[in-house]
Amino acid sequence: MADGQGDRGRQLDRLVEDRRDDLIALTRDLVRIPTLNPPGDHYLEICEYLSRRLSKSGFEVQLIRAEGAIGDSERYPRWNVVARREGAHAGECVHFNSHIDVVEVGRGWTKDPFGGELSDGRIYGRGTCDMKGGLAASIIAAEAFLEAFPDFSGAVEISGTADEESGGQGGVAYLAEKGFFSPERVQHVIIPEPLNKDRVCLGHRGVWWAEIETFGEIAHGSMPFLGDSAIRHMGAVLSEMEDSLFPALAQKRTAMPVVPEGARQSTLNINSIHGGQAELDDYRASLPSPCVADSCRMVIDRRFLMEETINEVRAEITDLLERVKGRRDRFSYDLRPMHEVLPTMTRRDAPVVETVSRAIREVLGKDAQYVVSPGTYDQKHIDRIGRLKNCIAYGPGILDLAHKPDEWVGVDDMVDSAKVMGRSLIELLAGDRHASAPQPTSKEGKN
Ligand SMILES: [Zn+2]
Repeated sequence: MADGQGDRGRQLDRLVEDRRDDLIALTRDLVRIPTLNPPGDHYLEICEYLSRRLSKSGFEVQLIRAEGAIGDSERYPRWNVVARREGAHAGECVHFNSHIDVVEVGRGWTKDPFGGELSDGRIYGRGTCDMKGGLAASIIAAEAFLEAFPDFSGAVEISGTADEESGGQGGVAYLAEKGFFSPERVQHVIIPEPLNKDRVCLGHRGVWWAEIETFGEIAHGSMPFLGDSAIRHMGAVLSEMEDSLFPALAQKRTAMPVVPEGARQSTLNINSIHGGQAELDDYRASLPSPCVADSCRMVIDRRFLMEETINEVRAEITDLLERVKGRRDRFSYDLRPMHEVLPTMTRRDAPVVETVSRAIREVLGKDAQYVVSPGTYDQKHIDRIGRLKNCIAYGPGILDLAHKPDEWVGVDDMVDSAKVMGRSLIELLAGDRHASAPQPTSKEGKN
């Protein structure tokens, strides 16, 4: 197997192996803190836990509350932790960013979702895979690196951030606004999301959410001809989508290596649709009154590609609505954009991509696979607000298990990915590249 780092890499591997029990215990501790989002519970508790751990390893730690951010409240404050360990010499900073929140438990579990059960080399629980296993692996990787190379150059940062699952406004977006991800402070970012230990995730597709509302006129339900049904108008919108939009989206293919492959095209999901009166909880308790619906609302979730612009995406829906309007009497609508994120894809020759790919080759003996995520994650804020392009997601865990019942992460996978992360630190902060060229070698990753 190719081993560009020779003894130094093997020494790091051994130190990671020595920490296997510690890695397991750390992961289980993290899983046992039920940081459910919503509502955003136990954030301070997990940040304080991480703070104690990283302080012991020589990090300077800051606890930062995203005061005033979306989701932040006195009952559920949005806490984040950022830890930084300076090296012995000037150099670049490598930042590992993990989100601390987990999604709801849902039904179908056979394990205690917050028990952290270890069996057959797997740790079970909500957030094991997405992404407390990755967080633990990055901490172990950093600690092993610091022991082996105390004389390193630059800095290592580890952050635990809030609310990734709900958009990250109280987490990475807030920190990026405060300059924590500016290219002057941080040069390389690795997000240990569960993308499988042999894959480097370069970025994600774009998102555009909007609400479409059609209007009608209320009348008695026994004489619908005296009113105008907003739901039937929406039906016309749906049928136009089926006839022209969905086939057109399926034709738009991308060169982005999105996984799963089904997502290598534009997609649109109808997130919700509601017309007429609010639904009653129980129609046995009371009946609705007979009315023609004067409003119908639909939320659409459009995912788009590097090859498309946000203006084209918006225009496609406006054009569709105008087509319906052109042939339908009394059709009127409103289109309200709700949320947008541009696609992002880090270049394959960016320093962090090349470094992690080499480390994967050395540790796993195979070439890294390059992928792009169908959905967004915190890289969007680092890209857009932080203006830092040298960012990837790399971490242990099988993506398909995220958010599922009986979610788990494999201990061997965590160990392997910790080796990859540790070897990446050697190359970026203590490697030959650094010894011969102490200054940043590539402008590519820095603007
Ligand atoms: Zn995640």
